[in-house]
Amino acid sequence: MYPLYSVIVPCYNEEAVLHETHKRLTQVLSRMDGSYEIIYVNDGSRDKTPQILRELAASDCHVRAIMFARNAGHQMAVTAGLDYAAGDAIVIIDADLQDPPEVIPEMAEKWKAGSQIVYGQRKKRDGESAFKKITASVYYKILSWMTGGMVPRDTGDFRLVDKKVADVIRGMPEHARFLRGMFAWVGFKQEALLYDRDKRFAGETHYPLKKMLKLAADGIFSFSVKPLKFITWMGMGLIFLAGLMLLTLLILLICGVAGGNWWLADLMVGLTGVILSALGVVGEYIARIYDETRGRPLYIVADALGFKDGE
Ligand code: UDP
Ligand code: MG
Repeated sequence: MYPLYSVIVPCYNEEAVLHETHKRLTQVLSRMDGSYEIIYVNDGSRDKTPQILRELAASDCHVRAIMFARNAGHQMAVTAGLDYAAGDAIVIIDADLQDPPEVIPEMAEKWKAGSQIVYGQRKKRDGESAFKKITASVYYKILSWMTGGMVPRDTGDFRLVDKKVADVIRGMPEHARFLRGMFAWVGFKQEALLYDRDKRFAGETHYPLKKMLKLAADGIFSFSVKPLKFITWMGMGLIFLAGLMLLTLLILLICGVAGGNWWLADLMVGLTGVILSALGVVGEYIARIYDETRGRPLYIVADALGFKDGE
């Protein structure tokens, strides 16, 4: 087999790193056992990124460049790359060399051994602030719990996926995209590859807190209905509490104690419980509407054997 590798590189204001990134990627890819294409996606950069990409595309036949008309976000840039990638194996890697290109051949080995998704899992993160490390660690724990362990911890978008997996992702038109969750969700044979995440080569992060929070929320709300269940459980809890209070008040009444304002308090707890439970019920329907409108595939076929046009 002489495979074609596609490497997707989302770029937003990355003029300071692009030449180095291209050099490192080319060094690695030219020594692999197949041909390759590097797809740079310029996500509406306002610096010299588009010019640099034009030059690279003109001087290197392995380079493809997709220019967005405006900034659409990292996840959309990767999505566009996936749509255009022709490869048998497709690699997603950040432009800033935090994900070392030298790991790609190891990923390819695992792919050739039968894994369809090889995701990079970070052993340690260099050069990132304590704040980022702590919030990332807490977030991944919550996400892992919310999704029943489906989304692996300490995993970003750096990964190699088989063509078949990319085809499935191309058929998932959801707008709130959390690709690492989508890849976890589709199944297939997945394997982790541990690596050390480096410092950013140059420039600074384009993930300010606001973008990070949006991504974090997409991860939770697109892959878990647990937040909704909390509302229902809270409502049920309050109704139960109101029942206990009522029982206590009745016993006190029998013993000759009037209870005073506590009757009102009990009523309020009970009614709040009813309202929250009702919200939970409404939420369940909204979750179903969400599920329908998102248009995810109903099932994902990894192989179909014995059909005339099948393999
Ligand atoms: N990126 C992008 N669009 C954006 C923000 C970031 O395409 O709106 C790209 C960026 O060029 C880089 C990758 O996404 O290749 C990861 O971004 P960054 O390194 O800034 O995030 P961090 O590693 O700090 O989380
Ligand atoms: Mg980075």
